[in-house]
Amino acid sequence: MTDRYDVAVVGAGMAGASLAAALGPRARVLLIEAEDRPGYHSTGRSAAFWTESYGGPAVQPLTTASGTYLRDNGFLGARGALTIARAGQERELDAFAARFADLGVDVEVLGRAAIEAQVPGLRPDWIRGAFEPSCADIDVAGLHQHYLGLAKRAGVELWCAARLAGAFEEADGWRIVLADGRELACDLLVNAAGAWADTVAELAGLAALGIAPLRRTVAQLRTTPAVPAALPLVLDLSERFYFKPEAGRLWLSPHDETPSEPCDAAPEEIDVATAIDRLGQVVDWTVERVEHRWAGLRSFAPDRLPVYGFDPASPRFFWFAGQGGFGIQTAPAAADLAARLLLGEGPGVVDPAPYDPARFV
Ligand SMILES: Cc1cc2nc3c(=O)[nH]c(=O)nc-3n(C[C@H](O)[C@H](O)[C@H](O)COP(=O)(O)OP(=O)(O)OC[C@H]3O[C@@H](n4cnc5c(N)ncnc54)[C@H](O)[C@@H]3O)c2cc1C
Repeated sequence: MTDRYDVAVVGAGMAGASLAAALGPRARVLLIEAEDRPGYHSTGRSAAFWTESYGGPAVQPLTTASGTYLRDNGFLGARGALTIARAGQERELDAFAARFADLGVDVEVLGRAAIEAQVPGLRPDWIRGAFEPSCADIDVAGLHQHYLGLAKRAGVELWCAARLAGAFEEADGWRIVLADGRELACDLLVNAAGAWADTVAELAGLAALGIAPLRRTVAQLRTTPAVPAALPLVLDLSERFYFKPEAGRLWLSPHDETPSEPCDAAPEEIDVATAIDRLGQVVDWTVERVEHRWAGLRSFAPDRLPVYGFDPASPRFFWFAGQGGFGIQTAPAAADLAARLLLGEGPGVVDPAPYDPARFV
């Protein structure tokens, strides 16, 4: 006889793991992961920060609502974020700060002396900054394991090396076929497949939503002078780089967004070189060595907002995708929101309406 579940969640990255943990106590849940270990793709490749302004004003409610859970459970470490601007960008920076201050984010505009004190060796063209003291480093691996542990204790089954190959909607739910030929049945199918979200929808006979994977690169550098431990996350108002300290080294990204097929993303040397060139325009430090480099896929819907809700063409297919560059920092609130929708419960602290897939119909 075929195994039957209330919910099958496709993908055991941060999205699938957090949602399985939320659903586990209230439903019979199966979490299926194509790779032989969960967290191999985007979740294992992030830059690990929580910043309320990152992702824009429509993502901020999810980030802010997640902060309490992340802080209370010990997954955040103090960092601070400084978004810096050159001469000529003063009004743009002030508008950026005002937009988030209006949303209740603690953000302060700083002049040249104050930003130079935070970023030693800062080149003279950078004259203004917006400082968010609440920005934090996230223990991403710890959070992911926390959710997998909660899910396991709630009775969720995790199958690794289990790639969804087909999903067939029948009168009473879904018949699921895995690439190795195994079959199972479930009432509700959740698409938490990250860069493969559109592929999974098509495997279920539904229309893709245009969720596009974009490659993002990070390099770990050893520098002279050594990276100050108290350096904040430094972001460019024009979105051409960000960098932050990590255990005495610098994590640097050129803020690249190269369109990609869903795949095991690998860094390109040109992106690492671009990042280092841009760093040289910010500080007078010498890069001694590129110790490590990696890339991952950040997947965005056409409007760059996440997609949380039932498919307009199937009340049994649920999208939990399009987490872009904010899927870690929004995970607790996003999982709560999605679990409520799936279980037919009332809304929580975040309004789900902006993220409804019906907006694409
Ligand atoms: C360089 C970089 C820096 C980032 N920095 C941050 C940051 O600082 N803060 C932040 O909040 N976010 C950050 N992000 C974004 C964050 O990493 C993602 O939003 C998040 O990891 C998405 O989680 P996910 O579970 O949706 O995707 P994934 O972790 O990719 O998980 C999806 C899973 O689905 C599985 N899957 C796919 N198809 C199938 C199938 N057919 N059958 C079974 N399983 C399948 C895949 O194997 C994969 O494991 C960053 C991303 C990158 C790349």
